[in-house]
Formats: sequence, C-alpha cells, structure tokens
Amino acid sequence: MSERPGPRLRDDLVELTGYHSPQIDVTVRLNTNESPFPPPPEFVTAWHEHLSRVDLNRYPDRAATDLRAALGAFVGHAGINLFCANGSNEVLQTILLAYGGPGRRAMVFEPSYVLHAHIARITGTGLVTGERRADFTLDTEAAAALVAEHEPTVVFLTSPNNPTGLVESEETVTALLEAVTAVGGLLVVDEAYAEFAPWSPIKLVAEDVPVAVVRTYSKVWSLAAARLGFCVGPSWLIGDLDKVVLPYHLSVATQLAGTVALGWRDEMRARVEAIVSERQRMAAALADLDGVDAFPSGANFILFRITKPEPSEDRGGEVWEALLRAGVLVRDFSRWPRLEGCLRVTVGRPDENDAFLGALKEVLA
Ligand SMILES: *Cc1c(COP(=O)(O)O)cnc(C)c1O
Repeated sequence: MSERPGPRLRDDLVELTGYHSPQIDVTVRLNTNESPFPPPPEFVTAWHEHLSRVDLNRYPDRAATDLRAALGAFVGHAGINLFCANGSNEVLQTILLAYGGPGRRAMVFEPSYVLHAHIARITGTGLVTGERRADFTLDTEAAAALVAEHEPTVVFLTSPNNPTGLVESEETVTALLEAVTAVGGLLVVDEAYAEFAPWSPIKLVAEDVPVAVVRTYSKVWSLAAARLGFCVGPSWLIGDLDKVVLPYHLSVATQLAGTVALGWRDEMRARVEAIVSERQRMAAALADLDGVDAFPSGANFILFRITKPEPSEDRGGEVWEALLRAGVLVRDFSRWPRLEGCLRVTVGRPDENDAFLGALKEVLA
C-alpha cells in the first residue's frame, strides 16, 4: 500500500517533470517573453462594457463565430479557417489529441519549445527528437530523412524559434513541408512570435496543404492573462479540432477579449515596432560585450551564451544568479542540453533593458 489514497499517476507519466518557469518577485522581470506593456486602458474599458451585457446564465457561442470571423479578416481574409483555444498551448494539445496518441509519433527539432515534447508525452504520443546544428539552424536534408524514416503524424517547427530566436527560412519550411506531406503527416508551425519576424509561413496555408500555423495573444497583444491562442489551417483540420476539443471550452470573456482587442491593432503594431527597435539596440549592446555570444533573433527575446572563461553550465548559472542579485530576472537555460551556458532575456521597456545591460556589464567586469 502506498501512503496516499487514490490512483497512481499513469505509468508513462511518472517520470514527467511539469512545465515551470520560476516566477521570482523582482523589479525587472525579463524571463517569460510577455509584453512589457499593459493593454491600452480604452481596450480594457471596452472589453468590460461588452462583458457587462452578456447573459452569464447561458453557455458561450461554442464555435466562437464572431472571434473567428474578426480574426480571419485580420490575419488573412474573410472565410479563412480558424480554430481558437485557451492559449496556443491548448491549440497544440488539441492537435495532438486529434492526430497523436498511442501508436503515433510526433517530431521535434531540439532545442525548441519544450511544451511540444511535453504535450506529446501527456497525450501518449511517441516522440522522435531531431537535432539542430550548433548554430541552431536546421539541416533540412537530415530533417527530411528523419521524417521519411519515422513517418510522424505531426511535426513541430517553431519559427521564430524559442528559446533561440532563429527565424526559419522559407526554403526550410517548404522543404520540411514537402517531406511531411510525403508521409501523410501534418506540419505545425508554432508562430507565437510571428509579429516580430520578417516573414510568415501563414501564406503557405491552403486547403490541400497539410500545414497549421499557430499564433497567440500572449505576446504582442499584451493579453497573456486572458489565455487566447488560435491556429489557421485547412478546413478539414479545423473540423477535426472542433470535434476533439471540449464543448464550450472558450469562455465569453476570452472570446470577447480576442474580438475587442482587434480594434487596437495600430497600438499593437506600434508596440511591436518599439520592441523590435529595442531588440536591435540590445543586440548591438550585447555584440559589444566581451565574453558574450548573442544569437540573432526575430522574436521579442535574445538568447546569449556566456563564453568567458569558457561556456559552461556553471558559468551561465553564476551569471544568472548575479543578475538576479542585481534585481534582474532572465531565463536560465545554462543546464539544458545543447544550451550550455545560455541565458535568454526578454525585450522589455527601455528602462528595464538598460537595467539588464548595466547589470550584465557589471557582472562580467
Ligand atoms: C509563449 C509561447 C507560446 C504561448 O503559449 P500560450 O499558451 O498562447 O500562452 C506558444 N509557443 C511558443 C513557442 C511560445 O514561446
């Protein structure tokens, strides 16, 4: 008998460590890639006004019709096929509930967003891990060969990639899509940072192409707390996701947040521009620092490696701790395989970025 009542966790999940990003109370928080700006107050007022007119005793619109129509018109054209959920993580989970499961495989290329592998585990989907080159680019020939060998039903690609910041080229996405199509699979491009990047694979979406592009309100729309994500894809894919997801999973408050926010698209674009310009300023400052190797980024964060005296887990961890003592929280990847000595900093407000750069300079001196 074990000491506690109730069933044991599923055998295949016992070894699983839950996803967590430590939240420490500190003045400058640059560790989870949220927007540093709150949403416009006029948006919050408008959202509340809409909410006050809702019949709370009734279930929400199961198909999120208004939100899908408004979003479709925003990202593409009216009639575009969209699926919305509680954060893009629920979109990813629904995709694996539909196309993964026992006897099927998902494929990831590491290093990348850990939730892809994590959700594969919890949905009982087999996982095939492909490797990236040392500079985090994808060897497309090797990737295509791996796809042909393992015939995964779902292949994940994150572009811009998290935590590296790398934007996949159109040639890479197209080549991988070809390989995935040949084995009857689905290519899922996780585009959580789309708005910060120079190009988007969303233009590849078509009825006869097995590709889904996943996006979120968590980063650019300043709405991480609202939990809203969506994917764009062929109608058969959206139909399958609608079949699998729980009925009424998306609350009225969430649906309204997504629809109403689109009225502030100019403000959103201005914030994206401000963040991209800050990212460029930070990249230039990091390039000037001795003992730091920063990777090019098309997102709202920068991955960098501490290289002096040499790149190591311990040195990365030391710098992370010293930054924390200086009141700046970044994300520590230094003990992750393939990311030895690496830290990731979210682009914040100019004053926060100055605090980070100043603290890093002092720590390295
Ligand atoms: C932040 C992030 C998400 C966002 O997840 P939500 O559930 O929409 O908050 C998705 N994918 C990647 C790669 C991310 O970095």
